[in-house]
Amino acid sequence: MTASAVDVCVVGSGASGSIVAHEIARNGFRVLVLEEGRTLPPGASLATVQSGFDDALVPSPAGTLTPFGRPWTVSALGGGMTLYAGIAFRYRTVDFDARAHVAADALDPVWPIDYAELRPYYEELERRMGVARLPGADRLEPPSDPAVLAPHEYSPQGLLIAKAGGRLGRLPFPTPLAINSLPYGGRPACHCCGPCNEHLCPTGARADARSPFTDVPLPSGALTVALGSKAVRIDLGNASRADSVEWLDTVTSQRARVRARCVVLTGNAVQSAALLLRSAQSAAPNGIGNATGMVGSGTSFKISGYVSGSTTLDRLPARSPGGPSDHYLDDEAPSGLGGMIYEASPAEQAICDGNIALRLHFLAADQPMRKNTVRLANSRDRLGLQKIILEYWTHPLDKRRLGYLSRRASELLTEAGVKKVDYQDSNYQSGSGHLHGGCRAGVDPTESVVDRWGRVHDIDNLYVADGGFFPYSGGVNPTFTIQANALRIARRIATQLA
Ligand SMILES: Cc1cc2nc3c(=O)[nH]c(=O)nc-3n(C[C@H](O)[C@H](O)[C@H](O)COP(=O)(O)OP(=O)(O)OC[C@H]3O[C@@H](n4cnc5c(N)ncnc54)[C@H](O)[C@@H]3O)c2cc1C
Repeated sequence: MTASAVDVCVVGSGASGSIVAHEIARNGFRVLVLEEGRTLPPGASLATVQSGFDDALVPSPAGTLTPFGRPWTVSALGGGMTLYAGIAFRYRTVDFDARAHVAADALDPVWPIDYAELRPYYEELERRMGVARLPGADRLEPPSDPAVLAPHEYSPQGLLIAKAGGRLGRLPFPTPLAINSLPYGGRPACHCCGPCNEHLCPTGARADARSPFTDVPLPSGALTVALGSKAVRIDLGNASRADSVEWLDTVTSQRARVRARCVVLTGNAVQSAALLLRSAQSAAPNGIGNATGMVGSGTSFKISGYVSGSTTLDRLPARSPGGPSDHYLDDEAPSGLGGMIYEASPAEQAICDGNIALRLHFLAADQPMRKNTVRLANSRDRLGLQKIILEYWTHPLDKRRLGYLSRRASELLTEAGVKKVDYQDSNYQSGSGHLHGGCRAGVDPTESVVDRWGRVHDIDNLYVADGGFFPYSGGVNPTFTIQANALRIARRIATQLA
């Protein structure tokens, strides 16, 4: 087995990994990024690439394990941001402390940090990569610096929904997007050449995982990215220090090892938990960081669903999706906490015979539950690794919250002219694009895996900086928060290494 040494080994090159790697490398440390995926080809879409991702096992209603779990956003250089929709909300104050709204049997949902602590990192990232938004339009938006980019105009469907929402007395607003409405950060303005969600951006108008660092020079040789390289195990030097990461070439299955002063996991909430579990050894017999059985626990996929239908359209305005946040903090929602509703119409079926397809996505934080977890199976995947099991049950409170949001979303569609509203399952229970928890942050090691800096309890030099950190999944799309938190953690690591 070949061996090498670096200052920092980062596992994963997605939203969080890219930030961590660039921030630490620009401080002059040698960073190796292990990324098991490869560069997506031009024109790639989720439909064309996802069959290549390993599945996870999920329990069927009959209790048997079936291979329909989705433990990835996107496995590729750049991770989920390669194909994401660009929706760039900041978490709201309530997302950092939802104690008043969670079920009595849920894990502690309180983040060990609050919005004020994360705000400078949101501001910095927003300046570096650009977010097009309408300040003040979203009544739950936390305080922020002025927007750097004007919002996009509504899409035809977004405008129909916004107008319908206005007639119902709601306050719709254009969704904040990390997609340039004007040239910004060395990237062009979007000219609406095709659908964003689930597709590569052909022009670079949409931010990707590297965008915040495009113009940041790195010292020569500071950053190495190894593609097709899957981290399979972390070895401890002693009970409180990670010594090295073992990885394998996904084509040849050849193994190699890299020694590192610090290891940062950014493989996504499910994969980081799985890696800690696969690293069981005598100093950590149940997996690293798992002395209290919390690795994998509290995994959250967000609860979500769709309502759709079609209506007639007589004219064609322009672009961004939109929706109201009126049902986010909402006394009428079960537990007083609803979620987001926004337009997510399928681009392929936009307009046909004078009819326009409308679809609304409703999305809310789920209860952080101990029994919703990532485990390892006895069966092996194509690389010979123990397969991942995702165990997820929707809490009764969340079923009621979903029903509530579905009814509010249906009202919007009906007001927009839809005669027959169809409900579509998002199948979030088997894994979703929004992966959180599993390496939850907190003060109490019986309810968490990492501390407020993402450092695994009792291991001095092992961090988790992806969505796994989230003790509560929050009710809006997570990536901007994942990035801001990753930047906060990376800066701490760089200071500690100096
Ligand atoms: C179609 C789609 C649309 C989305 N749209 C939005 C949106 O509009 N707004 C939003 O906020 N969020 C959106 N998301 C979610 C977003 O993609 C994720 O929140 C974000 O990418 C998570 O960042 P991460 O750093 O935790 O992990 P990821 O970005 O998933 O990156 C993890 C990377 O680590 C690699 N990896 C994992 N394990 C290993 C290992 N053991 N060894 C080596 N490499 C490894 C993976 O291959 C992957 O490339 C969307 C997701 C999808 C799929």
